[in-house]
Amino acid sequence: MSDFDYDLFVIGGGSGGVRAGRVAAESGAKVGLAEEFRMGGTCVIRGCVPKKLMVFASKFGPLAGEARDFGWDMPDGRFDWLAFRPKLHNELSRLENIYRTNLARPGTDIHDARARLIDAHTVALSNGQSYTAKHILVATGGRPFVPDLPGAELGITSNEIFNLDHLPEKILIVGGGYIACEFACILNGLGVGVTLWHRGPQVLRGFDDEVRGHIAEVMIAQGIDLRVGVSPTGVQRGSDGRLRVSGTDDHKAMVGEVLWATGRTPNSDDLGLEALGVERADNGAIVVDEYSQTAVPSIFAIGDVTDRIALTPVAIREGAAFVETVFKGNPTRPDHALVASAVFTQPEYGTVGLTEEEARAQEKIDVYCAAFRPMQKSFIDRSEKALFKLIVSQESQKVLGCHIVADGAGEMIQLAAVAVKMGATKADFDAAVAVHPTMAEEIVLMKTPTRAD
Ligand code: NDP
Repeated sequence: MSDFDYDLFVIGGGSGGVRAGRVAAESGAKVGLAEEFRMGGTCVIRGCVPKKLMVFASKFGPLAGEARDFGWDMPDGRFDWLAFRPKLHNELSRLENIYRTNLARPGTDIHDARARLIDAHTVALSNGQSYTAKHILVATGGRPFVPDLPGAELGITSNEIFNLDHLPEKILIVGGGYIACEFACILNGLGVGVTLWHRGPQVLRGFDDEVRGHIAEVMIAQGIDLRVGVSPTGVQRGSDGRLRVSGTDDHKAMVGEVLWATGRTPNSDDLGLEALGVERADNGAIVVDEYSQTAVPSIFAIGDVTDRIALTPVAIREGAAFVETVFKGNPTRPDHALVASAVFTQPEYGTVGLTEEEARAQEKIDVYCAAFRPMQKSFIDRSEKALFKLIVSQESQKVLGCHIVADGAGEMIQLAAVAVKMGATKADFDAAVAVHPTMAEEIVLMKTPTRAD
């Protein structure tokens, strides 16, 4: 009989925490989990899921025009946010309940409260209860970062965007990462006038340079007013209720809303970590070893709060690896190599492996790249191009990176990631016969390098 109330206490009911809690409970551990807000965390409640549902909604806008060009008699429609929003929230509540049920089924105790660490084995909850646990897993995720400038509080973040009373006529999005580019395309598709200010020379820093340029061009062609090299300096509300935003180099914007998409911060404050000697990085990320263990042996951390790769499927893998290590006697490091991801711009960008720049810094490479108008767009004389790009090691002939910008690129890259993860060579790609007529066939048809070192 254990001296502790629980074998495992999880703090945070997001993707990583719920997976770890459920799998540990299924393996026979006595598990408690505390969540202060809603079960499901950022991904389900105010991230991936509602965002993707908004992506779906936003794609119908241009379809009427395209359908007409395919011979349909179809009038333009108008998006009704107030018809969509309750359905969105009903769906989130449905998913939240599934999370709750799946966690409770193997016997996990769910505590709807905020938790704080009192010592290496004790948590105190905001409802006055406290529990001891042999192991504690911190899976508290992250929150939007808002820059410190006059009037910043007048803007919103991705937390609030799903709850707006109405969509603004115009919005200014600040930032150039995943969230900024995705919401620029979503809101543009829903009929909102979008201006995007990014402080750097090009959006999507860290991604492949050629792809970044391609996506920026597509965004501009869709009517997004994309400005690079611009930082906001202040926000004021005018007497007409609109927000007046000033920026560097005399930039100005007058909009209904400002969306701060300026990165995310690990949620590690006020958890009692410092007093226990759990180390945190300058940005607040909990420092863990390759088994997700902190400097205090009984305390582990996974997911965005550790700021390794801030993606839901990675947090889930980290949670599963933690359970293997601690509860199944099978020490397992989460594998952070060759993690594929998709940026849900329109069209989408799917990527796995190295960028051209990263690969070239490492070794001599061949680059295969094709940008072309897909059949569906070319038939109706739309200029939007798809882009397929493979980066290949000259020495090993392995595909080091695969980049796809196309409708459905998120779906395509998941499959390409299997081959890249297996160490496929360019010859392996070439050996696969094309599926015709598709866009994705291009990935096995690029025979001559576009560039070779
Ligand atoms: P990102 O880190 O992707 O982008 C943050 C952006 O904000 C960058 O362009 C950055 O500029 C800019 N920025 C940061 N600080 C300031 C500032 N003070 N003033 C002006 N601009 C600033 O963060 P996101 O919030 O977009 O997304 C967070 C994470 O969530 C992502 O990294 C990703 O891991 C995950 N995510 C994944 C999604 C997916 O899988 N599809 C979707 C959404 C989020 P600079 O480049 O110059 O630093």
